[in-house]
Amino acid sequence: MKIINNIEEMKEISRRLKREGKSIGLVPTMGALHEGHLSLIRKSLHTMDKTVASLFVNPAQFAPNEDFDSYPRDYDRDLAMFMREGVDIVFMPERNTVYPAEYKTYVEVHELQEKLCGLTRPIFFRGVCTVVLKLFNIINPDTAFFGQKDAQQAVVIKRMVADLNMNVEIVVVPTVRERDGLAMSSRNSYLTSEERQAAAVLFKSLSLARQLGQGGEKDADKIRQQMTSLIRKEPLAKIDYISIADADTLEELKLIDRSALASLAIRIGKTRLIDNTVLE
Ligand code: AMP
Repeated sequence: MKIINNIEEMKEISRRLKREGKSIGLVPTMGALHEGHLSLIRKSLHTMDKTVASLFVNPAQFAPNEDFDSYPRDYDRDLAMFMREGVDIVFMPERNTVYPAEYKTYVEVHELQEKLCGLTRPIFFRGVCTVVLKLFNIINPDTAFFGQKDAQQAVVIKRMVADLNMNVEIVVVPTVRERDGLAMSSRNSYLTSEERQAAAVLFKSLSLARQLGQGGEKDADKIRQQMTSLIRKEPLAKIDYISIADADTLEELKLIDRSALASLAIRIGKTRLIDNTVLE
């Protein structure tokens, strides 16, 4: 496994792989790896000739009041996990080479970036899109793998790729969960054991939404209300948003007459957790 810090060196390796006719899969991560990340890696390893994993905690997607400084970092553990999976190349650039002092350019996906998580994290998606576009330009992947866990991120990135005529296929991989249904997340490590138990309420409320949907409920407000009252029963949980939206446009729905994304962001103590499910 090669570990590359230098952007020019990464570009040169990608050019060489392309000349050799090799397909490149990219799995962008911020480290603090768990089985969710590994499922993306495995998907790439199965379908692509070469797999590049990036490891970069992207400052551009954190607001000043957010957890950039405290975000869990254990690069030795992450590198050992990448190695064990058989990743070909880990790209871990330095912050000041990705965003040098003179840096000025940001990518925005209007409207989509303002909904859901964008309501409380207004610079988040421009940070994500900017770093993802930079990674695509540096690595030139044929396919990039993202998790359904971050459903809005996948929608926003697909929009960016289509709008900017980019030559990369976006593959979205199903959410990997703990035994009680909690979606795996690097931020789960912030939870105390009491909070960890309370966090199961996210999956419970999404399961309720699915159950109601499968039972024929088409009124989105009724589903939102039932999800809300279930979450309110958990004293440690504070609702950021609960949404039933069109899975592509992220417009809130009144009537569920198409594929709908049920999603939510909940604060458990100081930790903000997100999760979602698709109601067919
Ligand atoms: P992160 O390191 O949190 O930026 O996540 C890197 C990638 O892993 C993103 O595409 C996430 O959507 C994906 N991911 C994170 N958690 C999960 C999960 N539980 N299941 C599947 N993919 C995930």
